[in-house]
Amino acid sequence: MKNLWNKFDADQYQDDLLALRVYSSRLVGQEPNLVLHGGGNTSVKAPFTDIFGEIHDAIYIKGSGWNLDTIEATGFAPVKLDSLIKLSRLKSLSDSDMVVAQRAAMLDQRAPNPSVEAILHAIIPFSFVDHTHADAVVTLSNTPNGEEILRSIYGDKVLIVPYVMPGFALAKKVSNLTRTTDWSKLHGIILMKHGIFSFSNDAKESYERMIDLVSDAELVLKERPNLGESHGEVSLLEIAKLRSAVSKSANIPMIAAFNGLPFNYEFASQKDVVSIACRGPLTPDHVIRTKRIPMITDMDISNSVERYRSDYIKYFERHASSELQQLDPAPRWAVWRDIGTVVFGRTQKEIKVVSDIVDHTIQAIQDAERLGGCVTLAERDIFDVEYWELEQAKLHAGKEDLMFSGQVVLVTGGFSGIGRACVKKFSENGANVVTIDKDPNIISLYKKSTVVAVVGDVTVEDDVTNVIHAAIQRFGGIDVLVNNIGIFPKSAHIEEIDNEQWQSSMNINLNSAMCVIKKTTPYLRHGWHPAIVIVGSKNVAAPGRGAATYSVAKAGLTQLGRIAALELASDSIRVNMVHPNSVFDTGFWTDDVISDRAAHYGISVAEYRSMNLLGIEITSNDVASVVLALSGPQFSRTTGAQISVDGGTDRTI
Ligand code: ZN
Repeated sequence: MKNLWNKFDADQYQDDLLALRVYSSRLVGQEPNLVLHGGGNTSVKAPFTDIFGEIHDAIYIKGSGWNLDTIEATGFAPVKLDSLIKLSRLKSLSDSDMVVAQRAAMLDQRAPNPSVEAILHAIIPFSFVDHTHADAVVTLSNTPNGEEILRSIYGDKVLIVPYVMPGFALAKKVSNLTRTTDWSKLHGIILMKHGIFSFSNDAKESYERMIDLVSDAELVLKERPNLGESHGEVSLLEIAKLRSAVSKSANIPMIAAFNGLPFNYEFASQKDVVSIACRGPLTPDHVIRTKRIPMITDMDISNSVERYRSDYIKYFERHASSELQQLDPAPRWAVWRDIGTVVFGRTQKEIKVVSDIVDHTIQAIQDAERLGGCVTLAERDIFDVEYWELEQAKLHAGKEDLMFSGQVVLVTGGFSGIGRACVKKFSENGANVVTIDKDPNIISLYKKSTVVAVVGDVTVEDDVTNVIHAAIQRFGGIDVLVNNIGIFPKSAHIEEIDNEQWQSSMNINLNSAMCVIKKTTPYLRHGWHPAIVIVGSKNVAAPGRGAATYSVAKAGLTQLGRIAALELASDSIRVNMVHPNSVFDTGFWTDDVISDRAAHYGISVAEYRSMNLLGIEITSNDVASVVLALSGPQFSRTTGAQISVDGGTDRTI
């Protein structure tokens, strides 16, 4: 393991213990083989000066909700050191009392809640304490002869502590075990099946002890067999079915990320994968992200999901006390036999966290198997952490559920106008959005990981296939289709219509929609409360002279939508239409087009712009709001509807 300590960087903080603590915590946090996503914690014992100028012995401990790689000074909670040491002497302490007592001992009430390991950090008699869940150490501790192997690597410089539930029980255990210990001889503590501590009065030495101890463990594991090159493949429709079944089991929409890379494929193809994949998490706090075990799935998807569900309910019933409420019985990852792995989550962020944990877990399981077998914690111990209120609180902190969280929306023509407004609005409301547009600038327009932009032409069948594939590969399904793309050709009376323009309008405004709807429907069938919204036009009900090229295509599009509503209702896919008018902030309303249309009505441009009953301007955003509403729960009982977004016109009322 690489030592990242940089003398030049560290020297800037020599006079400020907390700043130095921030620096070395970030070094620890940068290494995924040490900690993953919020795992691990660090502390420094340093004086705290209060508002009266009085100085207290304090420990600055990582606050809950902070990640080590991005932590700042405000991420550490200053706590009275003697209060924590006094707590360690209590015979027993409940979780909720511990949280209250730790908060009461805080010297700055603005700081975050101290880590659940604060008491343990306090009793370790060194200024700097680093705690990680290093893969190599945890892997060795998860083997049948783990303790023996670890003792042979480290000798007396490390104290080995059998597994105890994290929190007060663990602090108490370490306190009891170290009554007569000569701490000066120790470089670290290994918590079996959980992680490792290193410490020193010097920040650099504490960090380097961590790196050295972990590197020694890595040496034992270094011989890994080479990976083959085979990839796992599965049809996109099967992925959509799996996502649908898991979402139904969770009773919330979730996105799914399939991974058939050689590493995941080979794991899923092992003969004994059912047994080895289900040993349990690498370190207990992963359970809140991954659940205790993955789902093992084959091509009988619904049966696999149902089996996982009933097993989870039984597991809960085996261990739960009466006041506990069962979490959803859906898996957070799956081993798809002979194909690969799949991760499920509400957001891209969750998918990333779980994917990283899964990849590290798969590696660790295989490493441990080579050393005699992977023996993780007993089911009961994992259950206790999964349902530990202090762990569950981590998941709920700062999490907001939005209307389209976990859902996937496909918007055609997302570069400008109504399409762009739709992408933005769905995205703001929690959706994962995939969009296609001919303009190559669409790629740089969307920077969020929740928006995938594809350059393509919806009149080309292969491009439509591409964007659908992108949606499934990235998010596992499609729930909402917004057929938005359209052009407004130059006005011309019928006898002057240019054949090419006519054909192009039909292709873009009508034929493309047929292709997109036709190709998306098989996936929408497995969507979460699926819906199609078609962007039509006021011209459907109230055509204007000279606009046949546009209006006829939009009328055809509306008819297509009506028939789709009839045909797809039995699959619970709702199809509704919006008819905007005079949305002047869209691409095709150039000044030329506006004056052209105004001339056709024989009125001024100013009059044309406010030509509606309410006398108000209509923006892309207004249309997107209606599209969003039609796609969401408010309109769950509506299909085949046509809603005007035109400020009102006496020609259609
Ligand atoms: Zn830990």
